[in-house]
Amino acid sequence: MIEQLLKYQDVDAGLRKIEIALSGSEARKKAVSAKKYLESVDETVNGLDVKAAELAHIYEKLQQESKVLADQREEFIGALEHAEDENALNYLAKKADELYNKVKTLTQETARVSEAMQAVYKEYAGIRNNIKNAQAQYAENGKIYNELKASKQDERTAIETELKGLEKNVEPSLMERYKAKRALKIFPILYEVRENVCGACNMELPKSVLAQLKNGEVIECDQCGRLLYLKK
Ligand SMILES: [Zn+2]
Repeated sequence: MIEQLLKYQDVDAGLRKIEIALSGSEARKKAVSAKKYLESVDETVNGLDVKAAELAHIYEKLQQESKVLADQREEFIGALEHAEDENALNYLAKKADELYNKVKTLTQETARVSEAMQAVYKEYAGIRNNIKNAQAQYAENGKIYNELKASKQDERTAIETELKGLEKNVEPSLMERYKAKRALKIFPILYEVRENVCGACNMELPKSVLAQLKNGEVIECDQCGRLLYLKK
């Protein structure tokens, strides 16, 4: 009975080989990494949007403040022209000077904000470029992967047909256990017990398990999850 499943597993190894060739292919890796980037980039763009909006708001506020101060200064300068006594002149000149310095500081701050905005725009441009590259990488490698997949299709179909034939000889409940492991991408699944240890991970098996094995049962290894049998 176990021989039938071993035969099945031998043929199934061919299928596993194809699966590994596909999933481990350079084309798939590149396509997957491009896709991951494209999926994550929205978050980056949203972050930049927030930053850009904040900076634009600060910039506008600084511009308004500068304008108010510049207007005030104009008023003092206008008043200066009509001032007559020295005290008033000194006072107005001092005020105009103060305002001039404040406007200067604001202008410097505005320049800094403007620089930060430029940096954000540059980042936007970089992201746009990355998106374009990732899209190209995804399309190109997706195509290569699909071609690779298609090139293996005949071989795959042949193996699957053979497996269907072999499956009929395997006890259904055992087949089910095998397939459950197979779905988890565990392979090989079936191992022989040699000298009381698991053939896959070398864990020593308890006496009770060995008794079951001697009884012809197929046991799952506690450690590696493989299915174990004892050769009669
Ligand atoms: Zn094991």
